[in-house]
Amino acid sequence: MSLKFTHTTLGQRVLFGNGQATENLAAEVARLEAKTVMVIAGERGMELATAVAKDIDVAVWHDEVVMHVPVDVAERARTVSADNGVDLLVSVGGGSTTGLAKAISLTTGIPSIAVATTYAGSEATDVWGLTENDVKTTGSDVKVLPVAVIYDSELTLSLPVELSIASGLNGLAHCVDSLWAPNADPINAAMAAEGIRALNEGLPLIVEDSQDIHGRDLALYGAYLAAVSFASAGSGMHHKLCHILGGTFNLPHAQTHATVLPYVLAFNVDHAPEAAARMAAAFGVDDAVGGLNQLRARVNAPKALKDYGFTAEGIPAVVEQALATIPDSNPRPVTEENLTQLLTAALNGDDPATLRR
Ligand code: NAD
Repeated sequence: MSLKFTHTTLGQRVLFGNGQATENLAAEVARLEAKTVMVIAGERGMELATAVAKDIDVAVWHDEVVMHVPVDVAERARTVSADNGVDLLVSVGGGSTTGLAKAISLTTGIPSIAVATTYAGSEATDVWGLTENDVKTTGSDVKVLPVAVIYDSELTLSLPVELSIASGLNGLAHCVDSLWAPNADPINAAMAAEGIRALNEGLPLIVEDSQDIHGRDLALYGAYLAAVSFASAGSGMHHKLCHILGGTFNLPHAQTHATVLPYVLAFNVDHAPEAAARMAAAFGVDDAVGGLNQLRARVNAPKALKDYGFTAEGIPAVVEQALATIPDSNPRPVTEENLTQLLTAALNGDDPATLRR
């Protein structure tokens, strides 16, 4: 069969180096000739941000960071940047912090550098998200893509193991979903497969020893590939479901992704033989579902949505929104009945294999 696809590669510099964030940030700020830098970090991340930014002149420090970027939080940050004549944003943190910088870039065009400290991968996508009245809106705009990303595994050593695993599985979900998302193509599939391989190797090392730099390197590298493949392929079924769960029920982002992933995989896998073979190979086993199960057991992955406050009463609302948004590219057709079944299994932490067909 001949290959036919259109692929967009987003332009961004990636500076990867353990113990080198401070040096790499100073070099990037100089390269961009920025005069008025605003550093964004959550209150708890400010200590890390202060160390990372110690060799640059910082005009403004901003620490009001809230998950899913409420519009009023974004508005205040935009006002601060405008009042101070900021010409470069530096975010130091996870997806919530990167997301706030993106919200500023979206309306002002001010570029950003992202120093990533989780495995969410927002730093490598042109996707922004804003939340108003419990509804999260997302969109893509190249203006919000950080001009440079700085990865330094030392900055992730403080990320608690449990959160590291949830966040790493969020990265893995980007890889899996990108194999059947609307713009899936062989280039992002190749990156997704390498992302699965790296995360599958790295996450267990972090569980064995949270200070294992090699494990942390593999997780960051895998998370980056995951995000690049997701940015190119678009949102598939998994992301649509998690987006609704996060936005409407305010469930924690990484844990929700980590919990839902095995259910979406089991639901789709027998309808997507090529993706299934690619994933199995990346896990180094014969069956993708078995590969993910093995990894989840080794890292003690989050198991049930009920552990994060979701209840059966919420299922119909998720199903209704999901039916309207899950793309036609999904390998298995979705119905009210099979989505209810999937969400019920994820709610209770039932064996995902029951969803296979
Ligand atoms: P987060 O940024 O909310 O961080 C989770 C927690 O970890 C916070 O309490 C934070 O303070 C803490 N933390 C972060 N780094 C740490 C470190 N190195 N050491 C100790 N603690 C640390 O969570 P997240 O999962 O990274 O991001 C979630 C948000 O990002 C969601 O809003 C999600 O929608 C968004 N997101 C967007 C994209 C995109 O492409 N736009 C992709 C992924 C995630």
